[in-house]
Amino acid sequence: MDHLYEVYSGSDTLCALLLHSAKLGVVLRIENGMLVGAAQVPSENKDSRPVEEISLIVLHGISLPDGEFGGPYIKQLFCNSLDCKQHPDFSSLDGLKVSSHLVIYREGEVEQYVSFLDRAWHAGKSSYHGQANCNDFSIGIELEGTDHVPYTSCQYKVLAHICRLLQQAYSICNIVGHSDVAPERKTDPGDSFLWPHFRALI
Ligand SMILES: [Zn+2]
Repeated sequence: MDHLYEVYSGSDTLCALLLHSAKLGVVLRIENGMLVGAAQVPSENKDSRPVEEISLIVLHGISLPDGEFGGPYIKQLFCNSLDCKQHPDFSSLDGLKVSSHLVIYREGEVEQYVSFLDRAWHAGKSSYHGQANCNDFSIGIELEGTDHVPYTSCQYKVLAHICRLLQQAYSICNIVGHSDVAPERKTDPGDSFLWPHFRALI
């Protein structure tokens, strides 16, 4: 536990992950593509990576409905159980098969949907430095949030901790936003994501 306390010391935020981990005696670590210590919620929206090297992390922002936090809808979307008639915002999601490797919620809880060794379906049509289809070689992390509402202190700390673990486990060259790899289509994680603050934590 010392390591986690070291990671989170100085935080004013009561961090759900810390409490969760402390209760379970679990420290986050990566084993065989799994983030041990995260809640595992397997999604069918995945397939094999066509390349072996995992070299990029793509950060996203998501909220369902837009601007609302805390509902079950992200999990339902990634598990193909979202009833798209429940809210007008959901109509455009009907039939969509998407996922990400991880979701980090507002209080720092982490869910894993897809093994890092498999390809999650998060980036869509995208390219990074001339290399198309970022899903092939990237890890997708969704932050519960919007382009305009500040992300939480806890989310930054948990995200930075996980990115450090991923950098140790894989040959990660860079961490970018969805808007960087699909600039014509996507704006997330948005202006509300403070890159200098995040980079300073890694
Ligand atoms: Zn995105």
